[in-house]
Amino acid sequence: MNIKDYLSLTKQTAIYPSDSFLEYLTLGLASEAGEVSGVVKKYIRQDFDLDIAQEKLKKELGDVLWYWARLCDELGLNPEEIMEENINKLLKRKQNKTLQGDGDDR
Ligand SMILES: [Mg+2]
Repeated sequence: MNIKDYLSLTKQTAIYPSDSFLEYLTLGLASEAGEVSGVVKKYIRQDFDLDIAQEKLKKELGDVLWYWARLCDELGLNPEEIMEENINKLLKRKQNKTLQGDGDDR
């Protein structure tokens, strides 16, 4: 499945108030990112081994993807353009040897 098909299909499971989509989707994205962290925390605590952690992370990363895709769609952003701009930014930082550090304008 490609990202545009996925984004289009997320509309079928998008149930939230349209007048507060930005807040809803942003909170959902942060919440699912927190669930990713929670799996890693439990892995560190040795609640389960890496194989189980990978399966759990696979599901949570899918949830992150859903909120990311809905935000792209609701904001009228092209997901492929976001991916391309992001990787170009990072490759430029690598070329400039500024991958490490912080701030968007490196
Ligand atoms: Mg989840």
